[in-house]
Amino acid sequence: MAIASRKPAELATGAAFEYAPAPEAIDHVKIAGRYDLFIGGKFVRAHSKVRFATVNPATEEVLAEVVEADEVDVDRAVSAAAGAFRSWSALSPARRARYIFRLSRIIQERARELAVVETMDGGKPIKESRDVDVPLAAAHFFYYAGWADKLEWAFPNRRVLPLGVAGQVIPWNFPLLMLAWKIAPALAAGNTVVLKPAETTPLTAMLFADICQQAELPPGVVNIITGAGGTGALVTGHPSVRKVAFTGSTEVGKLIQRQVAGTGKRLTLELGGKAANIVFDDAPLDQAVEGIVNGIYFNQGHVCCAGSRLLVQESIMGPLLEKLKRRLGTLRLGDPLDKNTDIGAINSRQQLEKIEGLVASGVAEGAEIYQPECRLPDRGFWFRPTLFTAVAQSHRIAREEIFGPVLAVLTFRTPDEAVEKANNTPYGLSAGVWTDKGSRILWMAERMRAGVVWANTYNRFDPSSPFGGYKESGFGREGGLQGLLPYVELS
Ligand code: NDP
Repeated sequence: MAIASRKPAELATGAAFEYAPAPEAIDHVKIAGRYDLFIGGKFVRAHSKVRFATVNPATEEVLAEVVEADEVDVDRAVSAAAGAFRSWSALSPARRARYIFRLSRIIQERARELAVVETMDGGKPIKESRDVDVPLAAAHFFYYAGWADKLEWAFPNRRVLPLGVAGQVIPWNFPLLMLAWKIAPALAAGNTVVLKPAETTPLTAMLFADICQQAELPPGVVNIITGAGGTGALVTGHPSVRKVAFTGSTEVGKLIQRQVAGTGKRLTLELGGKAANIVFDDAPLDQAVEGIVNGIYFNQGHVCCAGSRLLVQESIMGPLLEKLKRRLGTLRLGDPLDKNTDIGAINSRQQLEKIEGLVASGVAEGAEIYQPECRLPDRGFWFRPTLFTAVAQSHRIAREEIFGPVLAVLTFRTPDEAVEKANNTPYGLSAGVWTDKGSRILWMAERMRAGVVWANTYNRFDPSSPFGGYKESGFGREGGLQGLLPYVELS
């Protein structure tokens, strides 16, 4: 419907526009039917004969088959990384930087292809993979390339040594970006890498392997092996791995922590979250509504730092909720490859079932559910943007990480109560504060146990800014100068 033909009343209520389809072209993308493992600079036939399919969650079509790497494969990959470590760590830092700059530049050059494959393999809207995931991944390599020949300034008066082989396991919510967060600082500091992407989203990692070849990165510096959780455990448990970096669930993070205990391996864990997004009565409400929507519906809520608990000062609950519900009605759910889509597909059937289970528990425990009218596609995995009111802090939807487009709305009266409720969680990854008063932002930020506190914005990322959690959200920081620390030995 063209805006000119709308009645004023429709405009005033914010009824959704109708958009003509605007699908991103996919004819420039080549996805191979099968992928081998990337070891020692080459795609090599695996020892394991087990393969599994990766599907497009928006259509349930099989995109490709990848290997479930076994112990022999993992050992080969770690040996290749260990073999490459000596020369890579001895390379002049400026030359190391050049390779990493090259990776960044090729990611930029192949941005469209990477964005399309990310969206097809993971279900996220193309406008997010195109405007967030891929540019940030390139920026990450660019940023750490800059550090590679400045380590002595990063850590003045210290001798800086790399650790050796880093074993890195990443999740499915930001596949290429998490790869960049892991690989870029490791290489900049002179380490070599074995990385395992998540089972449901291996394809951009396979494209990255191709990018390593295109960049003529020395063989063995980056090795990428596919597989499920068992393969991940083989990587993190391999005796020649000196440093383990993991992003994923708190449950698996705890398993890995037990596995590496006593081995002398360095460990960073970036785990789950249940962030509070706190709106005070003096906040600019329209801006806050955009921040709330971005906080929980971005990437279908598959975000560890998602603002999944909305804490609203009681006096503005009515008007804020009205604006928020109206905004939810304008979100467009559907084909992730369509440039107008706001909410794409849920990453996997398994994740969809988890979301459905937790939402059912919210209803059963007495919270009030709100979902805007919207048609779900016939095939694929989908979940409507959802919000719950009448939520008690004891409800599962207020305590557990849902990792879906589901918001739990709670209220508070005083700043102290807001802090108390925000911190009432085993997690501590992120938080948001919306208020007109700068002093209150600082007061809140000092008191919240959260690694990142955003003020009057949400989900802002920059490679120069460290990111990581407290409590069950993990430890160690990624990004910034702090993100180099886990990859170096200082003496
Ligand atoms: P996992 O923690 O299982 O997956 C993260 C990565 O770890 C994947 O590559 C996975 O492989 C791998 N892995 C699984 N088990 C092991 C192991 N024992 N040792 C080493 N690596 C392992 O998350 P799920 O994908 O199962 O998601 C479950 C829930 O976790 C979600 O619903 C969400 O709540 C939360 N989650 C949180 C994330 C965050 O960033 N905070 C990211 C992802 C999930 P594979 O993919 O093959 O299983």
